[in-house]
Amino acid sequence: MAVIFFKPISFRLKTLMNFFRCPSPADPFHRKNDTIHRLGNCVALCIGFFFLLILFPVFPLEEQAGAVDSGRVPIFEIFPEEEHPSNLFSAQTPQTMPQVAIIIDDMGYHRKMARRFISLKANLTFSVLPQSPYGEEIIRMAKAAGTALMLHLPMEPVEYPHIDPGPGALLTRMSPEAFREKLFDHIEEIPEAVGVNNHMGSEMTTHEDKMFQLFSILKAKKLFFIDSRTTAETRSRIPARILQLPFAQRDVFLDHEPNPAFIEKQIRLLIRIARHQGQAIGIAHPHRATYETLKRMLPEIRQKVKLVPAGAVVHTAG
Ligand SMILES: [Zn+2]
Repeated sequence: MAVIFFKPISFRLKTLMNFFRCPSPADPFHRKNDTIHRLGNCVALCIGFFFLLILFPVFPLEEQAGAVDSGRVPIFEIFPEEEHPSNLFSAQTPQTMPQVAIIIDDMGYHRKMARRFISLKANLTFSVLPQSPYGEEIIRMAKAAGTALMLHLPMEPVEYPHIDPGPGALLTRMSPEAFREKLFDHIEEIPEAVGVNNHMGSEMTTHEDKMFQLFSILKAKKLFFIDSRTTAETRSRIPARILQLPFAQRDVFLDHEPNPAFIEKQIRLLIRIARHQGQAIGIAHPHRATYETLKRMLPEIRQKVKLVPAGAVVHTAG
């Protein structure tokens, strides 16, 4: 098979080498077959370019990843620059045990990981993406285990449409009616959810009018909102305050570099913030490294903070 495939190529390479060589007038064979040779050389050149295109694609790698990720399994998140209080490291240990809520985002696509996180019995909160293939099954498992559930609401990121926030995403160009209808569908799909946080949304959360509409519906449905803070420009705090919606913001993303050393560093940062503020919210994703690091660090985490469901760390602004 390999011989059949490569022999014509080696033959064409020979003819290609002859491409720039003028056939000798004394060589009747070359003169007679000159046109056929040149045609053959063109075909060889085309084959060469075809293989070069396969080996060195002209499209940027990022675009290719986007094309794959926008398929069945969504992109977990687009992470912003980290911002932390400057006096964090001089924090005093508070009198009472600080509280930490860890939300596992982007649930609905990984049943095995959902089972593993439930088995930790760590008071984690699952945030489930609407229209996800295993969402219903994961909600059933979580409910049976007493794991708190949230709706992980897909929203327009700055990078849209290059980055797709997944099925049922809320977009800034939607009319108030379309926005409302889509949001109602998602809330009805996960009636067990006690709150909502945004999946992506670095564009949507900067539109105060849209956040106001979102929060007015969440308020009526008695749902809280946790801003995942996918952008430092988010405008969600003001409408939450006006509407008196139970609200909080993510403090630390735990696993945007899904390796144990990084996740451990982020968990320690989350604990430090909780000791400084009294409470802190970490957001993680269904990575194996996250599960294993949490499992390994659980005894230490429990010594320093109290793990609580997300609903315990939201507040209505006074
Ligand atoms: Zn997400």
